[in-house]
Amino acid sequence: MFGYLIRFLVVMVLVRMAWKFLTGLVGGVTTRPQVPPTEGISLVRDPVCGTHLDRARAVTVRRKGEMYYFCSEDCRAAFDQGSRAASGRA
Ligand SMILES: [Zn+2]
Repeated sequence: MFGYLIRFLVVMVLVRMAWKFLTGLVGGVTTRPQVPPTEGISLVRDPVCGTHLDRARAVTVRRKGEMYYFCSEDCRAAFDQGSRAASGRA
């Protein structure tokens, strides 16, 4: 009875080790290079505050054929004021 129990435990441990080895082997073979989580999202930089943000969610403004991306209306307004002041002086 006791001998049977020990043998059962040994077999369980061996099966578990073999299973781990096999799954590790299969996992190692089938593991594909991980896709970076940022794929599909193009990050742009807010020129006012320097925040990096998702292009799809950014507040956009076109100035002289160039697109600018802002994190908020506040930054867009600040950019507008800055560019207006700069062009006013020139
Ligand atoms: Zn900003």
